[in-house]
Amino acid sequence: MRCQGTVMRACGGFYCVLTESGFLTCKPRGRLRLVKDEILVGDKVEVSIVDADTGIIENVLERKTVLSRPRIANVDLAVVVVAARRPDPSTFLIDRYLALIAHSGLDAILCINKADLATDSEIQSLSEIYTTAGYDVVVTAAIYGRGIDELRQRLSSVTSVLAGPSGVGKSVLFRSLCPDAETEIGEVSRKTGRGRHTTRHAQLFRMEGGGLVADSPGFSYLRLDDISPSDLRLLYREFRYYMQNCRFNSCLHRAEPDCAVKEAVSSGHIHPERYENYLKLLSEIESLD
Ligand code: ZN
Repeated sequence: MRCQGTVMRACGGFYCVLTESGFLTCKPRGRLRLVKDEILVGDKVEVSIVDADTGIIENVLERKTVLSRPRIANVDLAVVVVAARRPDPSTFLIDRYLALIAHSGLDAILCINKADLATDSEIQSLSEIYTTAGYDVVVTAAIYGRGIDELRQRLSSVTSVLAGPSGVGKSVLFRSLCPDAETEIGEVSRKTGRGRHTTRHAQLFRMEGGGLVADSPGFSYLRLDDISPSDLRLLYREFRYYMQNCRFNSCLHRAEPDCAVKEAVSSGHIHPERYENYLKLLSEIESLD
């Protein structure tokens, strides 16, 4: 009998696959072993069921997205995590993450963590920049469990990764989303007879209420090498609505005349900080050529 499932983790030649009826420890069919990276965490696979606990991976279904660092397939959404304070949030860094995430074909939301360290109006003004740009913003204080249900709800039907600079509380956030992660690894290790943490690769975990989350931070590589100046324009989601009215199709929204994006900045429809960061990212990309 065959079924479909998702590869949750790889461990010493075995793959742990989540199916409708639970976890199966799987080996790939011979031909799938020959090609490096043929099976990635996050892959949707077709499995022949051998018994209640084991199976054989027969096929890997087509991937929607592939992240490079860490290698995970079919991630739908990245949560950009920043701290309200300690470290102070940088909109330039947030915009860099958002551009890289959009370039990888993923949706994004912003999570402002450590909300207990800042005032409501500080959080509000950061939040407004991104809600104006069309992003969902969730405010959390993970160590107190605040906002976790709301975040979990946003992630309940997708596969997601947490991204963001160090020190913002990504690992506390991950443990709050998936409190059973440690236990789950223990159970799988017992079944396969392998020790814990024998893998350095990313792993996916189920959240209570649905959704899968990776335990390793995504987008650790922040260089913009693969993005061209004309790509960048399209990665700013709030620009797209206006740019069709720019005089030139090739408008980079910098010094060109009759630029609808610049007009939207002047009239307050595009946040000036987003636009300033765009210009900085644009210069950085041009200097890479
Ligand atoms: Zn323009």
